[in-house]
Amino acid sequence: MYNVTLIPGDGIGPSVIDVAVHVLEATGIQFNWDKQTAGMAAVYEHGTPIPDQVIESIRKNKLVLKGPLTTPVGGGYRSVNVALRQEFQLYANQRPAVSFTGTESTFKNVDITLIRENIEGLYAGIEHDIIVENEKIAAESIALITKKGSERICRFAFEYAKKHKRKKVTAVHKANILKCTTGMFLQAARDVAKDYPDIEFDDKIIDACAMQLVMEPQSYDVIVTTNLFGDILSDLTAGLIGGLGLTAGANIGKDVALFEAVHGSAPDITGQNKANPIAVIKAAVMLLRHVGENKAAKVIDTAIHDIVSERKFVTPDLNPRTKYGTREMGVELISRVKKGMGK
Ligand code: NAD
Repeated sequence: MYNVTLIPGDGIGPSVIDVAVHVLEATGIQFNWDKQTAGMAAVYEHGTPIPDQVIESIRKNKLVLKGPLTTPVGGGYRSVNVALRQEFQLYANQRPAVSFTGTESTFKNVDITLIRENIEGLYAGIEHDIIVENEKIAAESIALITKKGSERICRFAFEYAKKHKRKKVTAVHKANILKCTTGMFLQAARDVAKDYPDIEFDDKIIDACAMQLVMEPQSYDVIVTTNLFGDILSDLTAGLIGGLGLTAGANIGKDVALFEAVHGSAPDITGQNKANPIAVIKAAVMLLRHVGENKAAKVIDTAIHDIVSERKFVTPDLNPRTKYGTREMGVELISRVKKGMGK
């Protein structure tokens, strides 16, 4: 029995999380879901985007499956996602992008894992307005990057590469311009790389990397990078394999692990049965692998890949001519997972 904090989230979150929960339960593994409200939904219910009970629940359960949370743009409360990553020191964000057959993406054979530093850089939350005579004339955000944080994420990336038998780690930076911050990050990567002589190491400047990723993605294997670059590049790598409906991420700390889709709350398709549940189910697969439930993880992964390649029981982002949506895709997946688990 696994105790898991379950945060359905905002927008399309509750519908895709509902499918993910049923798919996980179809494996026969027992879960005790500790359902919590955060984000916009919690502002309506409790007057705050992160009620205390959410923090207590995560501290107790140490495992989280989370739907997307809306963050107001340009003002309003600070991102709950960023706050949770900082509160639980979830310093490593692991985002795999692996090609699916059956999608209309330009590239095949993409297999990139992006490891993003998750709590430092421009997301450290050190920013302020500069106000002169009651007028905002400027604003300042500080990118806080530490030597310890850089070494820790680079070591995480190399350990990931070693464990998963990956061949190469590429550090992505802007050390030609941001010499103090990302220069230190690059130096940390070079230092850590010396401890892993069997894994090839190289580095790329972020702009050149962005160009090369959309021209020759197969030349990348594991990427390690700072927070903002990782945020942007991981949506890019999601686009390489068929879009945000297919990619998940794990936020890993020393004690707590939080699993979520890469996508947001998608207000443009909320309530229309169009949200692709695969990204959140992929997050659930990462959770299963994290706790060592490898057989169930493989069965779900196979069902997902089969259903995407057949292009029938899929959402419109995968096949614009589909007759089906979130719920039908869920029903089909649950049935295949049960069969795969011999039930
Ligand atoms: P988004 O990821 O919600 O949507 C971008 C586009 O992708 C939209 O066209 C949407 O319809 C589509 N899309 C996203 N998920 C999909 C799915 N599962 N199936 C099919 N199509 C899908 O990004 P946005 O619109 O820029 O952000 C909306 C809100 O989500 C913002 O408040 C943002 O802060 C928040 N957000 C949260 C997270 C998170 O909780 N981890 C991540 C990103 C954005």
